[in-house]
Parts: sequence; C-alpha cells; structure tokens
Amino acid sequence: MLVVLGFLALTFIVLLPAQAGAAYLDGAGTASLENSPVDPVDPSPAPGTVSEGAGDASSSATTSGGGIGVPGLPVITRILCLRQCVSASRATRGAIIAVRGNNLNRVTRVIFRSRNGRIRARWRTRSVGAIRVTVPRGTVKGYLSVVDTGGNRARSPRELRIYPISSIPVEVFPVRGPFSFGSSGSRFGAGRPGHIHQGQDLSASCGTRLVSIKRARVLYNEWDDGGGNYVVLHNIGTNTNFVFMHMIRRSPLKVGQVVGAGAPIGRVGTTGSSSGCHLHFEYWVGPWQTGGSPIDPLPYLKSLLG
Ligand SMILES: [Zn+2]
Repeated sequence: MLVVLGFLALTFIVLLPAQAGAAYLDGAGTASLENSPVDPVDPSPAPGTVSEGAGDASSSATTSGGGIGVPGLPVITRILCLRQCVSASRATRGAIIAVRGNNLNRVTRVIFRSRNGRIRARWRTRSVGAIRVTVPRGTVKGYLSVVDTGGNRARSPRELRIYPISSIPVEVFPVRGPFSFGSSGSRFGAGRPGHIHQGQDLSASCGTRLVSIKRARVLYNEWDDGGGNYVVLHNIGTNTNFVFMHMIRRSPLKVGQVVGAGAPIGRVGTTGSSSGCHLHFEYWVGPWQTGGSPIDPLPYLKSLLG
C-alpha cells in the first residue's frame, strides 16, 4: 500500500509542473562554477592505454566457451571494435579490435581472412581475457582465429565484417533510445530559479545509453550537486564543447581520452539537481564555463536526426 501511495505521489510530482506548461526537469541546469574544474587538462592519454568504453567493461566476464571447460585452451567469445570503428561490432581495415575470451594470454598469432587466404597479425596487448590487435590492410570478411604457443587454435564465433572507412559516422545522435525534447521548460533559455536554462533537456528512461556525437576529447568527468555525474567533451578540430549531465553513474571515460563518434560515454540518470530521468545537454562555443558561451542546442540536435 505504501508503495502504491508513493507511486501516486511521485506521479503527482511529475505531472504537476507539466500541467503548468513550463515543466522542467533540472533545478540548477548546469554545474556550478564553484565546483567546476578549471585547471588545464593534460590532453595526452596515458601511454599504452586503449579504452574500451562502457560496453566492453560491462561484458568483461569471461566464459569457458560453451562449457567445454578444457583448461588452457584458447577460446574466443566476442570481437569488439575499439578504435576506427563504424560501431562496436563493425570494424574497418586499420581498426583496433579487442578479441575477448579466455586463455588468450599465450596466443602468439591472430589470423585474419584475406582475398588470397590468410593474414597474420601480432597482438598489441594480451591478457587472459582479451587480445588487442590492429585489423590488417588486406583483411576481408571472415572468421578470425588465434593460435597459442602450443599450436592450439580457436575461431571467432562469428565472421568479422569489414566496412570502408567512409562508413565511420561523423556525427551520431547522443541518446540511443526513445526520448523526448519535452515542452517549453526543457528548452534552452527557459527560466530556472536564479538563472536561465543553459541547455536542452532530453527525457529518456534511466539507463538509456549515451554516446559521443563527434570525435572528441574528454575534458571533465566529474560530480556536481547541480549537474550530478557529468562529462564535458571537446569536439576535436573545433572550438566547441558538449556537456552531458545527470548521468546515472560516473562515466567510465578518462580525462584526456579521445573517443570517436558513437563511443559510449554513460547512461541517462537523474543525479544532481534533477527531478526525472533525462539528459541535460549543453552546446558551448569556446571554453566551457571559462570564457565560452552556451548556444541553443536544439536545432543542431534535430539536424542529427536527419
Ligand atoms: Zn536541463
């Protein structure tokens, strides 16, 4: 009964401002300057690190490959594209991929299919659960295999499909699930207690995946009482920055890391000063909070929807 009452109360709270015609989901609208990190950020990622993003981290549990359970034999469970990708499952020639599985730490060769047969490639990094390798230039669609020091071989469960570089998306809509741009209260410039709304709110279920719109460098990955878990991305080759706020938990991204368009950056939440699951998105021309200014992101976001 209490649960039902609680639900009704919650429904009321959500509905009331909507009926007023100027509903808004976040109070502060932006992270406060007091808590904003304004120190210069080292733009270079730590040497030798290749981030695999949230998608990869969430699937880090290894299996024994269909329960065969032979100790020591290499097993491939999944191939994930990490860099120069069309998507997490679609690679290009020259892409860096993660071959995930088990007993991969003794693998010496990774073998790709080519027009004339096979191409061998050497791993970049290697551990029990994953090998990272660059897809060779001559690779064509086909199964990928690995061979370890004992001559044991394992084959990928699916064929690796290769896409042209031109298929790599330049811009991707950031919310990967059903969403709404809301009403007037969600707009850039809407009233908020003590200030105006500096971004556009996109309502979506908590947990909806958020991805980078463009190729970008991570400037900030922080917590703020207003913005909750937020990330600021600098769009490489431009003077613009995108801000993602109220995420359900801290983004797995590292400051300084470069991410491609479509790379996971977190999930929709309602952390910080927020009264419902949504993404608060800001589009800044010039430095975020330190000399730049926010513009209305809505026309741009709509343009991404084609
Ligand atoms: Zn907002």
